[in-house]
Amino acid sequence: MAGIYVHIPFCKQACTYCDFHFSTNLSNQDQLTQAICLEIEQRKKELDSKPQTLYFGGGSPSILSDHSMILLMEQLNRHFDLSQLTETTIETNPDDHSEEKLAFWKSLGFDRLSIGIQSFVERDLHWMNRAHSAHEAVTCVAKAAEAGFEKHTIDLIYGIPNQSMKEWESNIGKAIDLGVNHISAYCLTVEAKTALAHRVNKGLDHEKSHEVIEQEFHLLQDHLKRAGFRQYELSNFAKPGFEAVHNANYWSGKPYLGLGPSAHSFDGESKRRWNVANNMKYIKGVPSNSYTEGETLTETDRVNEQLMTSLRTAVGLEKVNISDIHWDQIMRQVDQMPAALQAMLDIDEIGIKIKPKHWLMSDAVIRELMIA
Ligand code: SF4
Repeated sequence: MAGIYVHIPFCKQACTYCDFHFSTNLSNQDQLTQAICLEIEQRKKELDSKPQTLYFGGGSPSILSDHSMILLMEQLNRHFDLSQLTETTIETNPDDHSEEKLAFWKSLGFDRLSIGIQSFVERDLHWMNRAHSAHEAVTCVAKAAEAGFEKHTIDLIYGIPNQSMKEWESNIGKAIDLGVNHISAYCLTVEAKTALAHRVNKGLDHEKSHEVIEQEFHLLQDHLKRAGFRQYELSNFAKPGFEAVHNANYWSGKPYLGLGPSAHSFDGESKRRWNVANNMKYIKGVPSNSYTEGETLTETDRVNEQLMTSLRTAVGLEKVNISDIHWDQIMRQVDQMPAALQAMLDIDEIGIKIKPKHWLMSDAVIRELMIA
């Protein structure tokens, strides 16, 4: 079954590390909403099954005006049959969790919040230029539960310069104590052209060593395992029954329709397309259908993509999902890998996986497995 993703490209302020597409200029919010509504109408035939998941991401969908949010939801309901949705997620920031907003999102049909907490340490939040305080990071989860959101996930970041191992451990402990049922924990990466890259290049901040990051990752795995979470993907941990359906569908190659600037789409077989990552170009391009580009994947591209997405998950790459010829090609790659990387794999009659304790090395392992 398919998913729909809607990209809301606005944020209150720019986080130091972020390279997603967003703008802090909200003055064209109404025009952008109109453009997404038009895109919905233009592309309503692209999904050939009823969507199972709907995901509003960004940017910060939680700062979109109520008026825009209502227009988008009405348009989605007008052009898609949303009766089979099993998960409707909105990404939120802790400072947007007012009682009124939470009730509003609930009334629109959202049943899952993805909350960008990142850290409970005030100094980290300031360093990241987050818009919320440590106090809001703690209280936002209780407010979500009070508003009736049973499903919520929080984002945390590890590898933060100047954050001690004790502070990281305390962040994990706080997340567990808050009673969340899903945690996405990402390793901080220095992306080109971000404020963080500038700071690192100037020597104002120093990236943590691989050894320290590995310790933080293993600390995370140990604590969350003891607290009853299952790590079902490199960055994702869930209590039983709370795994994210939308993201799991991406990893298993299901089709999805991406709407809004910078959103990507995939037809589940070979066709990919992506919208321009610029708000004004998108607004001007939608009426003339000149806001998108695409590509057709070869069989080899498709297998390599399957390796990239599935080998970061607990399921791994299952033999039934690729041809015998491609399986044999991958096994030949395994034979040629350095022994240290080979030892990170589990291969049996079902398929191939990377052992969870080595998931931080998944990029290096996957590179070796890719077929030509
Ligand atoms: S709120 Fe999210 S999307 Fe916006 S700048 Fe920060 S990390 Fe990026």
